Order: sequence, then structure tokens, then C-alpha cells
Amino acid sequence: MSAVPASAELEVDLAAVVANWRSLSARHPTGPVAGVLKADAYGMGAAAVGPALHAAGCRHFFVATIDEALALRPHVPGAMLAVLGGLLPGAAPVLDAHDITPVLASLRDVEAWRSYAHGCGRPRPAILQLDTGMARLGLDAGEVARLRQDPALLEGVALRYYLTHLVSAEIADDPTNAAQRDRFAAACAGLPPAPRSLANSSGLFLGAGWQSDLARPGAALYGINPVPGQPNPMRRVATLRTQVLTVRELATGTPVGYNATWTAARTSRIATAGIGYADGLHRSVSGRAMAFFDGRPVPLVGRVSMDLTTYDVTDHPGIVPGSWLTLIGAEQSPDDLAIAAGTNGYEVLTSLAPRIRRLYRSA
Ligand SMILES: *Cc1c(COP(=O)(O)O)cnc(C)c1O
Repeated sequence: MSAVPASAELEVDLAAVVANWRSLSARHPTGPVAGVLKADAYGMGAAAVGPALHAAGCRHFFVATIDEALALRPHVPGAMLAVLGGLLPGAAPVLDAHDITPVLASLRDVEAWRSYAHGCGRPRPAILQLDTGMARLGLDAGEVARLRQDPALLEGVALRYYLTHLVSAEIADDPTNAAQRDRFAAACAGLPPAPRSLANSSGLFLGAGWQSDLARPGAALYGINPVPGQPNPMRRVATLRTQVLTVRELATGTPVGYNATWTAARTSRIATAGIGYADGLHRSVSGRAMAFFDGRPVPLVGRVSMDLTTYDVTDHPGIVPGSWLTLIGAEQSPDDLAIAAGTNGYEVLTSLAPRIRRLYRSA
């Protein structure tokens, strides 16, 4: 822990991340459960989360970009480390040199990897993404058909997994889930045999039909509720706090903040704390979110500014300069804060800026 004071800190419970990974693993008897650590492990810090999961036995990791993979590689020695974002032109040698597995996203990617492997004179490992409904990355039905007709296109591609990604896994009764499961099974059945990877966090809660050879949860590892509308089965990972910088007394009628969107309706005490939208506290929560102090809600008033937020602490005489207000914690989950921001828990966590001090409770 640093002796340098911070105005905002994110405490990450690595033991809870590991516990979440273990409980997701228990839900997936058909194969291992990977860790998805893209976007700096959803804001929690991949350099801390990676080793914690690795020490617990996790041997499969996914990130979105090459830079993320290069940064994570030394923290997860010997583990499979895959880049979800396709094969960028020119990326093959650097991926191969660092034992990073591409997730091929099109027939063009397949051809590029095949020609790279040909140049190496030996098969090179890759994961092949099949599009079963997202229309984003992955071979579409036409490309799968071409591959089926000409399996030589895969020569030199050492297929680690077929992978597909669910569109609406968090909506358990959406018929798209079964349709994608069936399309994936049909597409794989027509191609050379290889293990399969299907479920994300919410997919792990859809039932046995969505189990595969490798699950790929991200959000649930970090405590985001994979079953919205039901009690959250995951342990809380993130606690976000901000420190009060000043407390001032305002006369009735005094406006607060940019554009004076809030005005004191009574003699008020206003606390200004050191977190703002540049830290990832969305400006859209202005006038809508709460912080918590001693378990009690403290209304955020006025506009969220870049580095600061203001709170009506008139009813909280205990709040003084140096007090810490909790924005994410036992009283308010990332999913709760997301409702105030008009987004989802994923965006709340991945928005948390690098300048927020990270503190780790070890695994
Ligand atoms: C982000 C991502 C995941 C993880 O999804 P969660 O909903 O966070 O569990 C899995 N697979 C792919 C392809 C992804 O892009």
C-alpha cells in the first residue's frame, strides 16, 4: 500500500475473483473455465487478476487485443492466452513469438494464418470463431460451407477450439440461445473435429445444453450478476471509494456545479469529493446516483464534473473532509450504478480509469 494519499480508490478482492472462478468451474463439468481478462480484467487490473487465477489453476485466458496479450503473457506462464479480436495484418509473427493464440474471425484470417504456418514449416495453433448470430466476428455460414468443401484451407492451422459467442445469454428465455447452440453444433459437425468453446458468464447459467469443452466468463468473475433479475450468485469483487476534499455550508438558493442544475432548497452542507467522469463515474449519473456512508445513502447533487462530484451531506453530520464515500460496494453494485448511468455493469467497471488508485486484497 502506498503512503501517497489518493482521492479515489478501487479495492479489488482477488480472493473473491478466485472464488467466483471456482464456483463457475463447478457449474461446468464438461471442460475447463477460462478467464476473460480483456479491458484490463474489466478494470480490475489484469496484472493482478491473471496471477491470482493462474495460481488457482486457471490455464486458459482471453483478452481482446495484442497489446493486452503481450502485457499479460509473463503473468500467466504456460497457459493458453488468446486474442479475441481476430488476426490483424502483420500480427502473426509477434503472436507466435510470444505463444499467443489468435481467434481467427474470417476466412481471410484463416488464409493468413495458414500461409504464416506454411512459412514456418509447421502447424501453428489457432482458435476458429464461428458466427452463429452476432454478425460481428467469426466465419459466417457461407464461409463455413467453403471450409467444409475445402478442408485443405485449414492445412497448417492446428485447431485448438471452435468458438462462438452468445447474443442474449443473460435473457434466459430468449430463443436465440437455443438457436445459436444448435447452429454451433451443426457448423462444428461439418468441420474437422476440434474441442468447442461456447458459454460466457450468463451462458454458464443456461443449463447443460450450453456446456462445452471450454467456458469463457468475464463479467461474473468480477461480480457482475450473470442472471439479471435474480439474486446475484457471484461474490462482490470491487469496492470504489472517494475521499471528501471539502465540506461547505450553503445558504438556501445557492446553486451547485456546472450549469447550476441543483440549488440548495434549505441551508445545506455540500461535500466535494475527488472523483469525476474522467475517473469513469459517468456524467449521466448526475443527480441520479447515491454514494454511501456508514451504510446510509448520500445523494449526489449537481453535475458530475471531470475530477469532482458534490454530495448533499446536510443529513450526515459525520461526513467531514477526509471521510470516504462508497460508490460501489455492499450497498450499491456495479449493476445498480449502471441503472443510474443508463448502461450496464460491464461499462461501469471497464470505465474505471487507470488514475484511480488500485488496492488489492490478496487471494
Ligand atoms: C467478452 C467476451 C466474453 C466474456 O463475456 P462475459 O459476458 O463478460 O462473460 C466471452 N467471449 C467473447 C467472445 C467475448 O468477447
